Amino acid sequence: MRTAVLSDIHGNLQALQAVLAFCDASGVDDYICLGDVVGYGAGPNACVERVRTLTDCTVAGNHDYAAVGLADLNTFNPLARAAAVWTAGQLTGQNAEYLRERPMVLETADAVFVHAAPYEPEAWHYVFDADDTEVCFAQTDRTFCFLGHSHVAFICVARGQGREMAASSLISDGCRYVINVGSVGQPRDFDPRAAFALWDRSRGEIGIVRVDYDIAGAQRRIVAAGLPPSLAERLAVGR
Ligand code: ZN
Repeated sequence: MRTAVLSDIHGNLQALQAVLAFCDASGVDDYICLGDVVGYGAGPNACVERVRTLTDCTVAGNHDYAAVGLADLNTFNPLARAAAVWTAGQLTGQNAEYLRERPMVLETADAVFVHAAPYEPEAWHYVFDADDTEVCFAQTDRTFCFLGHSHVAFICVARGQGREMAASSLISDGCRYVINVGSVGQPRDFDPRAAFALWDRSRGEIGIVRVDYDIAGAQRRIVAAGLPPSLAERLAVGR
């Protein structure tokens, strides 16, 4: 069983298409989406429609909520606010409804899925590094905690009191994992390639995957849509 966990697509259809092509070729069985399907990029409807066909297991992101009037835009910086207002004007009724109905958290027997952090999920705390994962480990007793929001991809493995940062890991009994799956559509960890996590339960492995995509195409669409040009420029540097 191979599950792809995607987050922070941010309306970047070119990045999403490249990730899904990779997943198709690697025999992914199912998908989970950690939110922020929209915001920043020029393809919000196409991205929501693609995600809707992939999975019902999608949690809410702050940009999704902002685009459908469920988040306070005053908490957004001017660039994010401009993108949220533009996105709100683009979304079809059906796509807005899909985003509006997303839950904050999904849980299974061994995993928790959330956009930002499992504690106070509605406060959208950022998880950037190993220190930030401590409250996540403390908040849940699940073996796996999948999250996004900071656009920085990593796996933190807890073995007793020990913590190890990795890009991939074998799944071992007695270990627990916080997996920041990074961002498909707007990476900010200085690697401009699209990021997501591949959770392979048959092989007992979990890893961050990076995929090249048509960055120039995504940039052209952002500029043509009249969105702030800096949202296009940042894609090339991954920050
Ligand atoms: Zn995001």
